[in-house]
Amino acid sequence: MTEISPAWRATLLTLYPEMFPGPLGLSLSGDALARGTWSLEARAIREHGLGRHRAVDDTPAGGGAGMVLRCDVLAAAIDAAAAPDDPRPRLLMSPRGRPLSQARVRALSRGPGVVIVCGRFEGVDERVIAGRGLEEVSIGDYVLSGGEIAALTLLDACVRLLPGVMGKEASGQDESFEGGRLEYPHYTRPREWEGRTIPEVLTGGNHGAIAKWRAAESLRLTRERRPDLLAPSEGRSSPPDRTT
Ligand code: SAH
Repeated sequence: MTEISPAWRATLLTLYPEMFPGPLGLSLSGDALARGTWSLEARAIREHGLGRHRAVDDTPAGGGAGMVLRCDVLAAAIDAAAAPDDPRPRLLMSPRGRPLSQARVRALSRGPGVVIVCGRFEGVDERVIAGRGLEEVSIGDYVLSGGEIAALTLLDACVRLLPGVMGKEASGQDESFEGGRLEYPHYTRPREWEGRTIPEVLTGGNHGAIAKWRAAESLRLTRERRPDLLAPSEGRSSPPDRTT
């Protein structure tokens, strides 16, 4: 018996709908889009712009550089895209948001989809965030010129976890961040390349030994590169750096 699960739905609000699906129209996510595993609707905020010029932004209250996306225009765009009882979380891509994590990505991919507002200019009028219940999400501590590439990043991470998107279901379980570890190193043919060989344990066929080696490498790499991911009992040598 095959269970028909409704497609995972992504709705984007953007000044540049032509940026979508962009790279998500190719490869695994593109195939899944064509199969109907997920759907994508990119809506132009400008359709709700004001006046003859369809204005979407205005100068910041209090002065300063740049422009701010108007709350009334954004709210009209959000209301047209998602009914009040739409169960999907409403996200605002924003460098001030909670940093995106694999755990959050996994939770989002198990839900009905997302409604994503892409900011531009200096950002959006603060009032629409509370007024429409937007959850701010950041993809990292750097500033992009708009939320579109951040939204593509979030969508890519979610879509590859949807059932049937990745070649082997298993490849989602073992990866970096799953289980709070970075992934172990990979090798493939040729067995020797420029004098470098594949670790012997990987070619010996002893599955127990391979699993042990991979777990140890995973822990070693995490200790070296991202000790912040580990609990103190797992070998985090000192508390995370403090800047005081
Ligand atoms: N003045 C703002 C930055 C605006 S950048 C500030 O200092 O916080 C313009 C838009 O790009 C933002 O509204 C947001 O939608 C998007 N953006 C920029 N950096 C981002 C990041 N790290 N994560 C998610 N979205 C980001």
